[in-house]
Amino acid sequence: MTTGIWVLGDQLWQGQAALTAHVENRAQTPVILIESCRYARVRRYHAQKLVLVWSAMRHFAQELRDAGWSVTYAAQAEEFETPLRQWIRDRGITTLVIMEPSDRPFAQFLKTLDLPCAVEMVPNTHFLWSVADFRQWAGSRKSLLMESFYREGRKRTGVLMAGNDPVGGQWNYDKDNRQPPKGTLNPPAPLTFAPDETTEAVIETVEALEFPTFGQARPFHWAVTRSQALDVLDHFITVRLKTFGPYQDAMVTGEDTMWHALVSPYLNLGLLHPQEVIEAAEQAYRDRQLPLNSVEGFIRQVLGWREYMHGLYWLVEDEYFQRNWFGHDRPLPDFFWTGQTPMNCLHQVIDQVMRTGYGHHIQRLMILSNFALIAGLQPQVVEDWFHAAFIDAYDWVMQTNVLGMGLFADGGTLASKPYAASANYVGRMSDYCQGCRYDRKARTGDNACPFNFFYWDFLDRHREKLQSQGRMSFILKNLDKMTPEERQAIRDRAQQWHQQLV
Ligand SMILES: Cc1cc2nc3c(=O)[nH]c(=O)nc-3n(C[C@H](O)[C@H](O)[C@H](O)COP(=O)(O)OP(=O)(O)OC[C@H]3O[C@@H](n4cnc5c(N)ncnc54)[C@H](O)[C@@H]3O)c2cc1C
Ligand code: SF4
Repeated sequence: MTTGIWVLGDQLWQGQAALTAHVENRAQTPVILIESCRYARVRRYHAQKLVLVWSAMRHFAQELRDAGWSVTYAAQAEEFETPLRQWIRDRGITTLVIMEPSDRPFAQFLKTLDLPCAVEMVPNTHFLWSVADFRQWAGSRKSLLMESFYREGRKRTGVLMAGNDPVGGQWNYDKDNRQPPKGTLNPPAPLTFAPDETTEAVIETVEALEFPTFGQARPFHWAVTRSQALDVLDHFITVRLKTFGPYQDAMVTGEDTMWHALVSPYLNLGLLHPQEVIEAAEQAYRDRQLPLNSVEGFIRQVLGWREYMHGLYWLVEDEYFQRNWFGHDRPLPDFFWTGQTPMNCLHQVIDQVMRTGYGHHIQRLMILSNFALIAGLQPQVVEDWFHAAFIDAYDWVMQTNVLGMGLFADGGTLASKPYAASANYVGRMSDYCQGCRYDRKARTGDNACPFNFFYWDFLDRHREKLQSQGRMSFILKNLDKMTPEERQAIRDRAQQWHQQLV
């Protein structure tokens, strides 16, 4: 009887459940990791995402070998099944152990495999909340507000708690975390890494791929090992976290990362565990008296939003992923693939994503998905683009973020109102409008900013649906103050813009 372990590409952590269950017997427990080209071809990915995942897998395989495991590595296999079957046969494996995947399509794919051995799935330990615990929390609640979930998480884990109360007396310091980028800001440079021989070889492979990828593979500066990812975390805690809070929502031309943590690629690959990330932030608050608004703001993202998105993803029915509450059907404009648009905010952010695979939360939410929402782009096509564009994209995190938070395509399962905004918001929270050919104050006319006419057109088109969202009534009153002529001019301008694209 031989047990073998298949380590999936986003489970690169020696503490993961399948490995820890057999660590005592590691010399006799074969392990396999497989790179599948077919999987990378099914949809488009950012070139740096492919480099990151394959390089991190190769480094992790070596780490496992150094720790005494017997590892088989299938590099650039056509698909998963052939090397898997071969390995099962060669190593005489009778039970294949896999930690449950984080993504639903992959879990579905595993069920279709008809392997010549028993398959044992062990619970996924990459998240703080198990799928079962989240389901129990959600129970028969009418509303699944993130804030309630987050408070429950704080109570259960004791993070930032003083007995039964939140430290500082408040659960949430968000109101201190929305400073616009006024004056000269000097965000610290991110910690970067020069590609080693392994990464360089993967970059060459990716550059030679015969199927399309997105963005550019070079320069590649991401961490590819756990030890480097821990350095990124340490750099964030010691250099960036102090100022993370106040400028969390700010966007500045040429400052790709501001004070953000840059840890999502590593959390999502298993190189970092959310528990250690949260502990490091909390310790910095307690030992080094870092400001509570920054520390709480960051911990809310990891203990709150990240766990919530994962729980919700596994809670909803399959139909969730096809939802389109507003019935939006516009195609994705080509500039999403090239960055070539006179709208400076979109140009800057898409160009940055092409260069790096990264955009921070407000760039994703208030520039990219906000535009897709108000311009009426088809939600599943937008989700597909986000999946192709970002270094940290995985099905479990992308679906609810794009469909639920970004596009309100779920009709309010996740968010209490759509994140829709005009150029007013972009002008306040960034410097993008200063270098733009459009007039950020104008709603109509040739120079009117598209974020303005699309915003008002969106409110106008969906007035009835939005009326039922309590938090929208104040904004709808402003729509009612417009003359019928202005509303018609806005409608015409929005229509014209789409026609010019066709
Ligand atoms: C439309 C849209 C698409 C997104 N797509 C992704 C994605 O593909 N992958 C991804 O990891 N995050 C995604 N996010 C969430 C968030 O924008 C990124 O996690 C964050 O920008 C990553 O950069 P950072 O590590 O510097 O984050 P920081 O701003 O420093 O935040 C800290 C950490 O909190 C977690 N986090 C914060 N918000 C969320 C959230 N809404 N969902 C999940 N985790 C969160 C991340 O792990 C992040 O690393 C998306 C958000 C939106 C609005
Ligand atoms: S004016 Fe409009 S299009 Fe130009 S940067 Fe500002 S919001 Fe974007």
